[in-house]
Amino acid sequence: MADLLSIINPATETLLQELPVDDSAAVAAKYNRARGAQPEWAALSLGDRIAPILRFRDLLIERVDTLAALLTSETGKPVTQARSEILALPGRIDFFVENAERVLSPHRVYAEPAGAALGTGTLEEVISQEPLGVIANISAWNYPYFVGGNVFIPALMMGNAVLYKPSEFATLTGGAIADLLHEAGIPQDIFMPVVGSGLTGAALLEQPIDGVFFTGSYATGQKIAVAAAPKLIRTQLELGGKDPAYVCPDANVAVAAAGLADGAFYNNGQSCCAVERIYVHTDVYDEFLEAFMATVKGFKLGDPTDPDTYLGPVSRKPQLDVLADQVADAIAKGATRRGGGERLDRSGWYFAPTVLTEVNHTMTVMQEETFGPVIGIQRVDSDEEAVALMQDTPYGLTAAVYGTERERAVGILRQLKTGSAYWNCCDRVSPRLPWSGRGHSGLGATLSLAGISTFLQPRAWHLRAG
Ligand code: NAD
Repeated sequence: MADLLSIINPATETLLQELPVDDSAAVAAKYNRARGAQPEWAALSLGDRIAPILRFRDLLIERVDTLAALLTSETGKPVTQARSEILALPGRIDFFVENAERVLSPHRVYAEPAGAALGTGTLEEVISQEPLGVIANISAWNYPYFVGGNVFIPALMMGNAVLYKPSEFATLTGGAIADLLHEAGIPQDIFMPVVGSGLTGAALLEQPIDGVFFTGSYATGQKIAVAAAPKLIRTQLELGGKDPAYVCPDANVAVAAAGLADGAFYNNGQSCCAVERIYVHTDVYDEFLEAFMATVKGFKLGDPTDPDTYLGPVSRKPQLDVLADQVADAIAKGATRRGGGERLDRSGWYFAPTVLTEVNHTMTVMQEETFGPVIGIQRVDSDEEAVALMQDTPYGLTAAVYGTERERAVGILRQLKTGSAYWNCCDRVSPRLPWSGRGHSGLGATLSLAGISTFLQPRAWHLRAG
């Protein structure tokens, strides 16, 4: 009998469902079905592949209430944020649809002028694009519609078959996404969910896949890279971050405090691009801290099914220990705790929103990914000090600068090795811009035109008329 995966509601700690896990044989069977079906899918016209994706887009909007309730039940994501995530995917789909033909179309890059050739005819050079084939999409739980959709939508559109391994903490949503895609007309064998934890993900990587697109932690990303290396396949890794923000002395402090509090605590801090470290110039430090604390105190914590709730439980129980350890380490080394700091005494995996000040870089809270409702705020005396501290990380996903002078902010951001740079905003993703990381934050890009062409491989045509 197959092993069972238990799905627990983080807000109530009750068992929602037990699902049979795909073992190696089941994974291999799914791979074989995908391999068999992919050529026919790739042979369809682009329009025929886009049509079911547009129906999927409409179904997302039509079913948002049910889908959001499911996502909330298994991840604890506040329902208003679950709805926002689902309702933002159609905008990304629109971008992919609008740009698919441009990326996929063959184009002639050279035509020899008539009579110039030594041979009998003229020469043409053409580049065409082909899908990779069967790809694995191993995904995270924190934004299953975003991080999954950034991969499987353009991958399908470009003619690939997708074996989609949702996180074990968002498996019901993964199943719902598959059902919706199939209902919309994506063939069963072209998109298949693969159910299970890391072991199932590892089994998927043992198949002769043509590419792996992974979203998750740096630690797992390293394992994926090692497993994929001998296969010499397209490998894309969207990993964690320790994203810094700096508030300049000339910043609009109210805007900075409101923006950064949301950037740090949205989705309970469980975003790859959550603000994880804040540096504030001493000239505006007190004013900023007061405004920041007032915003955090205004966040409603509680039942994630309540539309007014801003902070729900964390999605994974072990994270409670990570958060408590980071807080304890900081306090032992001299930090001041301003509210929160511990698990709440109630059922569910709730951790009180925590602001730590008088922090420094000897503390894990300023060094390691927190991925929860805990933020360190450090006072700095100059832009140079802020830059040095912002650079002090192996990660490189995003960085933000708040201030009125664009040149100053851009000058600071240029010195940082990050995939995204924000001026007077943070924790923001656009379908038109590439989403990528530097260093331990990953390899490759999703979104933008680069996030479409990554599911293709070019072919060079040398065509000489005979
Ligand atoms: P995780 O690394 O624990 O798991 C990610 C996925 O990998 C899951 O589906 C898991 O089952 C699978 N997995 C685990 N071990 C595996 C193995 N040995 N082989 C194959 N698959 C394996 O990450 P998580 O907790 O799901 O997600 C949180 C992390 O993801 C954070 O670090 C966050 O910053 C990062 N993240 C990054 C982005 C981005 O765009 N850069 C977006 C969302 C999340």
